[in-house]
Amino acid sequence: MTRKGTRSDRKHIAMERISILFSQAESFFSWNQEYSHHCVRSARLIAMKERVRIPPWLKRRYCRRCNAYLVPGVTGRVRIYRGRVIITCLTCGWHRRIPTTRSTTTNGKEKK
Ligand SMILES: [Zn+2]
Repeated sequence: MTRKGTRSDRKHIAMERISILFSQAESFFSWNQEYSHHCVRSARLIAMKERVRIPPWLKRRYCRRCNAYLVPGVTGRVRIYRGRVIITCLTCGWHRRIPTTRSTTTNGKEKK
């Protein structure tokens, strides 16, 4: 197996594959949860191999410990506690805290 393409090319393809895998995980979730978890695992493997970062909005869609695809209310729980979003995996109990960014600058459009 030969590796072709420039580094940025391969990274670009890897990113594309990751987003495809996540969208597949989403669409297959209602039929086959195992397949969704498998998609997450494959996406993470691709990210590791090509050393690309999984975008932050996708990072909160899976469990880091057991690679479960997290759907709020089904396999995951999303709560806000003390200004932080806490995502809990209901499969293994792993949780992740994401600080919510407070917007200090108000553009004044909301206030009248
Ligand atoms: Zn988990």
